[in-house]
Amino acid sequence: MANEPKKSSRRDFIKISSASVIGLSLGALIPGGKWLENEVYAIPASQGYLLVDTKKCQGCSTCTIVCSLAHEGKQNLSLGRIQVQQNPFKAFPDDIKIDQCRQCAYPACVTACPTKALHADKKTGVRLVSPDKCIGCQRCMEACPYETSNAAWNHEDKNGHKCDLCLETPFWKEQGGPNGKQACVQVCPVNAIAFTKEIPVQAGDGGYKVNLRDESWKQLGYPIS
Ligand code: SF4
Ligand code: SF4
Repeated sequence: MANEPKKSSRRDFIKISSASVIGLSLGALIPGGKWLENEVYAIPASQGYLLVDTKKCQGCSTCTIVCSLAHEGKQNLSLGRIQVQQNPFKAFPDDIKIDQCRQCAYPACVTACPTKALHADKKTGVRLVSPDKCIGCQRCMEACPYETSNAAWNHEDKNGHKCDLCLETPFWKEQGGPNGKQACVQVCPVNAIAFTKEIPVQAGDGGYKVNLRDESWKQLGYPIS
């Protein structure tokens, strides 16, 4: 079949990139992946990840607003693909939670999507949605293992959407994606969001929560550890 991913050896694949390997049936091909030996289908790892420091975050939601502006051209908190939750009944540091997509090695959202609208970008491995293929079933949202799903519903366009590390930002002139900039990282006034190309430890989500505090933070009177 012309569009079927090419078979390659395990050795070739490891040479090309690190990847998450998922055993799938023949009928469940995911764009962006490739066949290894023994009928194992592999989804390439994302080439980038967002890290956050919830102790540093002040809850201003500038990241959420700029995400909406860059992707949708609208100042709308509910259209932001990174969300910040504040709980006034909890004390520091549990009063703030940042929900950022982990670009999971084993992306449940990608495997759950029946139309392959949610897929791994062939060049960068970023997990993203093709809105024209989305049928609005919301299975990606149910499948995301995080408490607030990082695959979200675009209530205006009526399709699923999620963080693409700013790979496709029609309303932002900067180059985004793993080889460019991410709007949320650029605008956070306290640098509570960072970008890395290293795969964070993916057992739980601990690897995505890091200490971004430095000496200048200490000079403001805040603890740095
Ligand atoms: S809502 Fe769209 S992107 Fe999400 S699983 Fe359904 S078809 Fe796929
Ligand atoms: S939307 Fe959820 S399941 Fe999909 S890559 Fe992001 S964190 Fe993982």
